[in-house]
Amino acid sequence: MDKQGELDKVAQEIAACKDCPLAKTATNQVPGNGNPNAEIILIGEAPGYWEDQKGIPFVGPAGKLLDQLLASIELNREKVFTTNILKHRPPGNRDPLPEEIKACQPFLEQQIEIIKPKVFLSLGRFAMSKFLPYGKISRDHGQGRIIDYQGKRYILIPMYHPAAALRSKQVDQQLREDFCQIPAEIKRLEKNLTLDDKKPRKSEPENQQLSLV
Ligand code: URA
Repeated sequence: MDKQGELDKVAQEIAACKDCPLAKTATNQVPGNGNPNAEIILIGEAPGYWEDQKGIPFVGPAGKLLDQLLASIELNREKVFTTNILKHRPPGNRDPLPEEIKACQPFLEQQIEIIKPKVFLSLGRFAMSKFLPYGKISRDHGQGRIIDYQGKRYILIPMYHPAAALRSKQVDQQLREDFCQIPAEIKRLEKNLTLDDKKPRKSEPENQQLSLV
């Protein structure tokens, strides 16, 4: 089966999922979309109203801003894969609950395993804390680092959430600046992905390492 076929299978599992109550109140599941061979996977928080209506991630106002940001570094949705921590919309766009995040976790893990990206671009604090449990978005935004996740090394670049940028001019400005730095951050860190040492450093708790460069 090719990668798209495998991703479609995950989408079917999401459609049948009853591991949390969100599927009952959602209109559609929003598994994610984009390039199954993407080097970059964008991970948001959860579908909002428009995503729930259409079954596609980031198609509302935050998605329009995301498209502009991607275009600013000559990327688009066809070149990346876009998904969320939660695959169903929480009622009224409330924050994801820990048990919902836990229930949905296997789907993102499978998507990562299939796509085999190099880079995680986390959008907002919920996506960031999946990889950096002690991260702080106001401190860590825009700074790439190497992380170990499920026994493999990836570049993680935490970003502010585009919806936060729609609410604050200051965050908008910062997010645009951080996006412009993405190609340089990837270039800076890429060489570290090929190191033989696949294990997290003993002195640093897994997933909480600062950049290894
Ligand atoms: N916000 C998100 O985190 N994800 C979406 O898909 C849309 C808005």
